Amino acid sequence: MGALLDGIYDGDCSVEHLLTRGDFGVGTFNALDGEMLILDGTCYRLSSDGSVGPTASSVQTPFAVVTRFEAHVTQRIDEPLTQEETRDLLVSLTPSDNYLYAYRIRGEFASVRTRTVARQSPPYRRLVEVTKGEPVQMFSNLSGDIVGFRTPVFQQGIGIAGDHAHFIDEPRTQGGHVLDFALTRGTLEVCIGTDLHLELPRTVAFERADLDDDPVERDAEVTASERHT
Ligand SMILES: [Zn+2]
Repeated sequence: MGALLDGIYDGDCSVEHLLTRGDFGVGTFNALDGEMLILDGTCYRLSSDGSVGPTASSVQTPFAVVTRFEAHVTQRIDEPLTQEETRDLLVSLTPSDNYLYAYRIRGEFASVRTRTVARQSPPYRRLVEVTKGEPVQMFSNLSGDIVGFRTPVFQQGIGIAGDHAHFIDEPRTQGGHVLDFALTRGTLEVCIGTDLHLELPRTVAFERADLDDDPVERDAEVTASERHT
């Protein structure tokens, strides 16, 4: 994630390889060509032109987080919840801030506000520049799935500390990186992650990247780009 913030948008990991590591995930594609969402073993590209579809297995990614999703905790939600209330519920259902959690929220949403990165051309600008003024989409009264991860602070730089979630609607035709949502009713499933496997790219750009700069500065930059990938 630190490399992505620095504008390193091309990796060497294929979707085919990624899917050997898990069936549930979020990320982006080389050249920041859309948001990645992996659900039930299918990898979708949510494009900035609004199109959504499964990706070819040869497509590559510079950054993704995946897991084999197992619902260790399942909570039925029968009353409307804001994003913040859903976060509080998630925290109440989990034992500690020191694990990585994957969570799936499926149900009916009164609204979901998203945005989607657009394909970049070299020379790449830093992520904080790219995500400035990105168009925001607003979806209302629809069913779908949120695929999310909650990352502990000590993994900042490897991932994005805090919440990172992508949305796809039930017909799998629209979605994006979640900025905000209001859930009407649904189910929250949480998968507790106790082991972390990290794969780094063997690319010249990554080898030359300076990833040792001030973590506080990096943290501020993550916030500025609204934790975006
Ligand atoms: Zn994202």
